[in-house]
Amino acid sequence: MQLQNNMEDKVDSIKCITAWKWRLRVKIVRLWFYTDPLAEDNEKLLHMILMDQNLDKIQATVKEPYISMFVDDLYVGGAFCMTSFSVVPNIGIMKMTHHRFKLLFQKGTTVIPEPSLQIRDSGFSFCSMFEILEKKSDYHYLIDFIGVITSVRHQTEVDYYGKKLKLMILEIYADGKKVQCNVFGKCCDSLDNSILMKFERLPVIVLQSFKIKVYGDEVCLQNVLNVSDILINPDLQETVRFLERLDVASYHFFSFKKNIHGSLVSYINHDSFDWRRIRTIQLIQQKMENGFFFVAGKIKQVVGDGHWWSFSCVCGHSVQKHSHDNFYCQVCDKNIDNVIARVKIIVEDSTSSGIFVLLNAAATKLFGKSCSVALDQFQKELNDFNHPLHPAFFELVVGKE
Ligand SMILES: [Zn+2]
Repeated sequence: MQLQNNMEDKVDSIKCITAWKWRLRVKIVRLWFYTDPLAEDNEKLLHMILMDQNLDKIQATVKEPYISMFVDDLYVGGAFCMTSFSVVPNIGIMKMTHHRFKLLFQKGTTVIPEPSLQIRDSGFSFCSMFEILEKKSDYHYLIDFIGVITSVRHQTEVDYYGKKLKLMILEIYADGKKVQCNVFGKCCDSLDNSILMKFERLPVIVLQSFKIKVYGDEVCLQNVLNVSDILINPDLQETVRFLERLDVASYHFFSFKKNIHGSLVSYINHDSFDWRRIRTIQLIQQKMENGFFFVAGKIKQVVGDGHWWSFSCVCGHSVQKHSHDNFYCQVCDKNIDNVIARVKIIVEDSTSSGIFVLLNAAATKLFGKSCSVALDQFQKELNDFNHPLHPAFFELVVGKE
């Protein structure tokens, strides 16, 4: 029969049956070891998020017997050519990526460094405040989020299946709104008061792989034990972009105060121009009061000699170039790659004149130091005077000059 002959032509031989040999050129954007916090045996898994040049991501997992074969070669930021994995469905209530599948490393998986592969994206998939707050039920994909910490409450320990875990409750601000964030266990270590209070303004926080939880009408974020991670003022292009976006919103953030319960609190004030807060430069220099003020004056000059740019770390501390294209932040105590540029101008009114820093991006404008603190610095170091200014001031004086 004609039909039967056609079907016989398409038959495969048994020896040809094989797993498809996938070959990927990828960068590792996350890598973490996982042990089930509830399991009796301590089986360890090595998880990674891999990203290719199309910026598509997939989770890959190495099980215990193979971890030692690969662990020394793999690192975050590394680029590799990888071949031969098992492919399994990406299911469950804590999916790390939106890909339909996950990869499992096998004995025959190969990992070869690929230094020529350049993927600059850091691999975060930030969820917006709007996307979080619109959720009506628990979300089965873990998300990344960036915001500013506006309060930190230390709770007593909570019971987690017979284990005692530390709990902290944060309030995080972004896009004009706040969301509560519950942090359990080891993740609390990066939220120690001594870390959070060393910065000159409220710290930027990046939540990595957090769960969106819905309790009744309340939406909040929560870490997943041994999976989620917290970064404070990370030296990333994403932090700079977030701070620049905040600048547009023009809010003031006041620095943390410790209340009687030991919690850190601060408040946010909308930065609308208020004539009652105008002060003369001389009054500010006399340190009569703390707070945010506006100055009406005229721009005498933009600080010249090639020094009219100054730079600040994403933590708000001003930094100077160490060597060629290399900055060092004393507060973060490390070399940093990502900085925010600011413009220095000299302003005078009828009483006095002073150097002000106009912020090209957010930094001290939003989070500001008090005038007195800024003045202290001014007297020590004339060229490094930080004072928060309202953009309206700029327009005001430009008109008058
Ligand atoms: Zn810093």
